[in-house]
Amino acid sequence: MLEELAHAKINLTLDILGLRSDGYHELETIMQTLRLHDRLSFSAAPQGISLVCDHPEVPAGEDNLICRAAKLLTAYTGNNYGAVIRLQKNIPVAAGLAGGSADGAAALRGLNRLWGLGLSAGELVSLGARLGADVPFCLAGGTALARGKGEVLYPLPGLGGLGVVLVKPPFGVSTARAYRLYDQMGGGPRPDHQAMMAAVAKKDVRAIGRLLANVFENVAASLHPEIREIKKALLEAGTLGASLSGSGPTVFGLCTNVDQAKEVAGRLRLPPEYTVLVTATG
Ligand code: ATP
Repeated sequence: MLEELAHAKINLTLDILGLRSDGYHELETIMQTLRLHDRLSFSAAPQGISLVCDHPEVPAGEDNLICRAAKLLTAYTGNNYGAVIRLQKNIPVAAGLAGGSADGAAALRGLNRLWGLGLSAGELVSLGARLGADVPFCLAGGTALARGKGEVLYPLPGLGGLGVVLVKPPFGVSTARAYRLYDQMGGGPRPDHQAMMAAVAKKDVRAIGRLLANVFENVAASLHPEIREIKKALLEAGTLGASLSGSGPTVFGLCTNVDQAKEVAGRLRLPPEYTVLVTATG
């Protein structure tokens, strides 16, 4: 039996630069790994892939990115090995935290080890890009600027140890709907990537907090005004900045360290059906 951790991410910035000829949006985003993680364990089996997960929102069958990762690996290497994969789900589902992509990345790493395939990091990244645009970042982790659909990565100096408060309200934001609405109404606030990269290089937490920006924020807030309320609550509770992650609905607040993040979380007064988690940048 072996284990892999699948870490969540937040977007410190997210901008849309335009529409590409293939119909996808050209993104520019700075992604940051969190300590918050799912846990995957892998055991060998004579044949077939079984996924064991008792989380009601996680698809059990072939739609799961873990099963799709296994299928890609068997097709790529032409082998017929089997595995039992257990998933302990801690990352909120459909939250803008790339939980599914992180699981897919962890499955690629874990099965490469379990089956002794010997695939290089580069081969895993190429396979990962076929699973989803966020999977290459989930394989690399850390802090990175991403372009393209999110799969073209430029590593940045690491930002470990900053406190993060995550607030996920009990509704989803469809990513496809968020893009459609963005195309109709435009988005904001737009990030200043040069300034953010300079702040990340200096690990200037106050500047990073001030420069957090995601073009999906206004779009998501127009669908769900609660998103503005969450951001306001995080700022009033003492975070250095707050922003939507991905296309939402999770809003995160940034703090100097985990102790301050715990204090902020303790001051929040939000409806009980909202999920509040304290973690740190990884
Ligand atoms: P992203 O930030 O990459 O857009 P997300 O955090 O918004 O992703 P996920 O938690 O990855 O969203 O879930 C999106 C959908 O993916 C879920 O509704 C679910 O149907 C599907 N899915 C497939 N595999 C998984 C998995 N291992 N864990 C969670 N969801 C999964």
